[in-house]
Amino acid sequence: MANALEIENLEKVYGTGIKALRGIDLKVENGDFYALLGPNGAGKSTTIGIITSLVNKTSGKVKVFDYDLDTDLEKAKQQIGLVPQEFNFNPFETVQQIVVNQAGYYGVPRKEALKRSEKYLKQSNLWEKRNERARMLSGGMKRRLMIARALMHEPRLLILDEPTAGVDIELRREMWTFLRELNENGTTIILTTHYLEEAEMLCRHIGIIQSGELIENTSMKNLLSKLQFETFILDLS
Ligand code: ATP
Repeated sequence: MANALEIENLEKVYGTGIKALRGIDLKVENGDFYALLGPNGAGKSTTIGIITSLVNKTSGKVKVFDYDLDTDLEKAKQQIGLVPQEFNFNPFETVQQIVVNQAGYYGVPRKEALKRSEKYLKQSNLWEKRNERARMLSGGMKRRLMIARALMHEPRLLILDEPTAGVDIELRREMWTFLRELNENGTTIILTTHYLEEAEMLCRHIGIIQSGELIENTSMKNLLSKLQFETFILDLS
């Protein structure tokens, strides 16, 4: 079975001369729940931007379920659902319009799109709200709407860019439960986060990115025992 994501020696130099990525190598297995953790400006959004083909890479290879972005871009795109950091839907459209239109962009026939809208809005606890304008939703509902929208073309890989930034702890927990269920149902998930706690709650593997380099890429279990060990050493000194 192909890996969900394979990145080889990925580099990005912006026009300004800033080296945002300095040769990243990364593999995410099919079915994994993977966290990309790092401080502001580390290169997380650039990495996500390249995987989702919103940002051009300078060099390196990216494959999504074996589809190379350089040679099979459209097929690679079909495999990915992206939940960006900011709400970027039309707030005056209804909840159902937003998800059905998204399916249309991916060539899903309308009848099938309507069927899927019921499935994914129910799964996101938004079916009752389907005829409401998106601007009327609470913050948590808006985030769930973004996820439902990203699932409409049934991607195998869901990427979320800081899904819980600025979200209170109750809502964060609600999101965690929702994402965990999605992953248990077979969707590979990659999320970027500033919170180790969030990665620890959800993810099986973790990459830590700093100044454009992947300084750690391991299982959550390994990282936690390593951190404990380091704390232990510090405690002794
Ligand atoms: P954050 O957590 O704040 O979103 P990040 O880890 O996602 O940070 P990036 O947004 O990928 O980091 O930024 C990596 C580096 O690239 C930073 O130095 C940033 O200033 C720079 N950068 C990002 N986007 C651009 C751009 N469009 N043009 C020039 N430089 C950019």
